Amino acid sequence: MGILIQGGTVVSSERSYKADVLIEGESILAVGEWLDPGGHTVVDADGLLVMPGGIDVHTHLDMPFGGTVSADDYTTGTIAAAVGGTTTVIDFALQAKGGTMREAFDVWMAKGVGKACVDWSLHMAVTDLGADEAAGLAEMEAMVAEGIASFKLFMAYPNVLMIDDGLMFKVMQKAAALKALCCIHAENGSAIDVVVAQMIAEGKTEPHYHALSRSTKAEAEATHRSIALAEMAGASVYIVHLSNEDALRELRHAQNRGLKALAETCTQYLVLSLEEQMPGKSWEEAKYVFTPPLREKWNQEALWGALEDGALSVVSTDHCPFRFADQKELGRGDFRKIPNGGPGIENRLQILWHFGVNSGRLTRERFVELSATAPARIFGMEKKGAIAEGMDADVLLWDPHADYTISAATQKMATDYSMFEGWKVKGNARHVFSRGEMVVKDGEWVGAVGRGRFVKRVANAGGFA
Ligand SMILES: [Zn+2]
Repeated sequence: MGILIQGGTVVSSERSYKADVLIEGESILAVGEWLDPGGHTVVDADGLLVMPGGIDVHTHLDMPFGGTVSADDYTTGTIAAAVGGTTTVIDFALQAKGGTMREAFDVWMAKGVGKACVDWSLHMAVTDLGADEAAGLAEMEAMVAEGIASFKLFMAYPNVLMIDDGLMFKVMQKAAALKALCCIHAENGSAIDVVVAQMIAEGKTEPHYHALSRSTKAEAEATHRSIALAEMAGASVYIVHLSNEDALRELRHAQNRGLKALAETCTQYLVLSLEEQMPGKSWEEAKYVFTPPLREKWNQEALWGALEDGALSVVSTDHCPFRFADQKELGRGDFRKIPNGGPGIENRLQILWHFGVNSGRLTRERFVELSATAPARIFGMEKKGAIAEGMDADVLLWDPHADYTISAATQKMATDYSMFEGWKVKGNARHVFSRGEMVVKDGEWVGAVGRGRFVKRVANAGGFA
């Protein structure tokens, strides 16, 4: 006996069509018109869109930062994701300098196993190859064997996470050999740290200056440099959280030359801005301290344009939540100490639908491509990202007419604020299936805690041939 999702409109990255979807066990058994309901549990999808569950490839759950830890753990974070229509997340394991990738892998598996409520996977952030570099590089191979098909490299945060160009190049060469994808935090951390020190010396300590200390040029320069090094190494690169037109220009230039360069942007850069959220007037602006920072508003049009024409492949969140009352507070009087990050895992699809599809900028097929199909393809999740026979039954029943008001008072995320407080959006998740199980019913979480499964991904060079 299966579950028959009846009477909805299936939306793929290519087209929309009327069809029923039959789920048996954890998988989709059939997609077609007028499937026989005999014996199955029928879920009425009349008036709803049937889409692949969202995939958020950039989250930081239970992440230590500057003496505190991000407010959502794998349980609250993945429940918030599910309620927002996302059925898979990829988080980051951070290798400690002086530690091994294996140690980081074990630490992050312990955070997720038995706690995650939807399926999840990990990128490995490489910060160190150790004294024996050959052994360090061999660890990358071991990580790929564990299903970690992507490595994160930081060009920002000197002395903490940043690696130098030589180390980055070595990792890229190894990644190319393994067909693993290199995910790049592209900001020139050395130059930024000079500006930061100068600002602090001048007494410019408020949150606003965090944004001003990180120029779009620093992001563009690092975007260019990482792509050039990847070209030399023969590696595929994926620029994370691309935030502005200067960086986008470098990406487009590389793509026009046929290089294996991809990028995501995040929800916040599409709808929030320096002028509106961080004008330099109050401590409240600490809510919007994350990296890269919010940019001048005119950049938003460039980002939307790149989502339309394909220069940007994915929209993620960089969800890294900290409470305003007692965590952001750590940086009062010194923006360097403000925990970096914002909450967004729950609102990604609402924002992308409302400001993308409802406004006419994106088709609903493009919405599916950006939120689920491309993330699955680029990050090597072969059973996810599409409504088709044999795929995992990660199914989102989306009500395009639902009115919803975003608020910290009703959200599942464990923060005491929302970046989109009071915003009214049209379009929201109604029911959500994760591997065949209805985990969200009428917008409420109804699944079991800890049911999420670690997804072993396939190294496929980011989907490039
Ligand atoms: Zn991040």
